[in-house]
Amino acid sequence: MKRSTRGCGCAIAVLVLILGAGGFGFWKYGLPWLRSRPPKPTGEMQVHVLDVGPIEGDSILIISPAGKSVLIDAGDAGKGKVVLDALKRYKVERLDYFIATHPHTDHIGAADEVLNGIKVANVIDNGVDLSTPAPVTATKPGKGKKVAPPPTPPKKNKTKTANAFFDEYRDALKLNGAQYEKAEPGKKYDLGGGAILTVLAPAEPFFTKDQMKAGGNETNANSIVLRLDYGDFSMLFMGDAESQTEERLLSKSDLDLKAKVIKIGHHGSKYATSENFVKRVQPEAAIISDGGWNRYGHPAQSVLDRLKAASAKVWRTDLQGEVTITTKGRGDSGKLYEIKTAKENKEDLWAGREGMKDDSSRSGFIAYGDFGAPPKPKPITTKTQRH
Ligand SMILES: [Zn+2]
Repeated sequence: MKRSTRGCGCAIAVLVLILGAGGFGFWKYGLPWLRSRPPKPTGEMQVHVLDVGPIEGDSILIISPAGKSVLIDAGDAGKGKVVLDALKRYKVERLDYFIATHPHTDHIGAADEVLNGIKVANVIDNGVDLSTPAPVTATKPGKGKKVAPPPTPPKKNKTKTANAFFDEYRDALKLNGAQYEKAEPGKKYDLGGGAILTVLAPAEPFFTKDQMKAGGNETNANSIVLRLDYGDFSMLFMGDAESQTEERLLSKSDLDLKAKVIKIGHHGSKYATSENFVKRVQPEAAIISDGGWNRYGHPAQSVLDRLKAASAKVWRTDLQGEVTITTKGRGDSGKLYEIKTAKENKEDLWAGREGMKDDSSRSGFIAYGDFGAPPKPKPITTKTQRH
């Protein structure tokens, strides 16, 4: 009796030891592995137009029906936490793609914060390199001797260059180890489950400053424009594309631009979303990513009027917060996709903002001094669209 009890105790001790070691192993290696898995395929595709306001910016998260994730832009500097929190909320532990539409701070200012905060497999941008050039060193005249290269300056020096945000983005990209590629119009990315992301712009040669009309900005005009298809659902992502970009797209008569939903170009600026473009796209729903504190009159009344004339419905992040579109890729009209907002709208979605300065007055970069208290909202008119 005694012997068998002792034997039994021994076996339990060994079992506890094995279970303990197994548990520790799972906690140490299994859990992080499980956590790094993409979200489970749901058959549903999600597009989240994040609220990175009140200072203007863009950041859009796509989760494909197969669980692949794409982040288009990362918002302005300091907005990394908002974006990373959203990724956490939607259980995205690893991004399959990060796409930087164009090198302006309101789109990639927080790209370094995002790249430092989450593993990214692929980074795509338009190839415009705004890296601060290395300082030129004066060679001592007359000596003819080669001067040793200067020591590399510290990365985070206090006097930031105008393009420091771009340097930080590229540094973070290197650290992250993501695969880099330049956007090529016509290239398709298979997001799984039948969802395809296609690059529509920028086409070469890139727009130059001289080619821009009054109010135009060549960096915006060279934005990456994307098209997302999933079954009967389609959506365009215009970045900060300008009417010149739209004209170029319109000139390709065989290009499929018709889409159910459109993320409006350049935060609803009057220099984008031209009448002809809206006619070709025929959107049912237009999402405007804008900030309530912008001084450029975004969204412009003229853009809202053009959308209204085309019978499109409008959603705005400045009034409704994050805008989420979900779709299973099929369904009768009215059921193909669903749009939800984080906040209930209390104002007139069809009322544009007054511009305190014209888009053309900016050199292309949004300066922090441009922002302050939000301009007073317009009173609600009788034809208010609330949704
Ligand atoms: Zn922008």
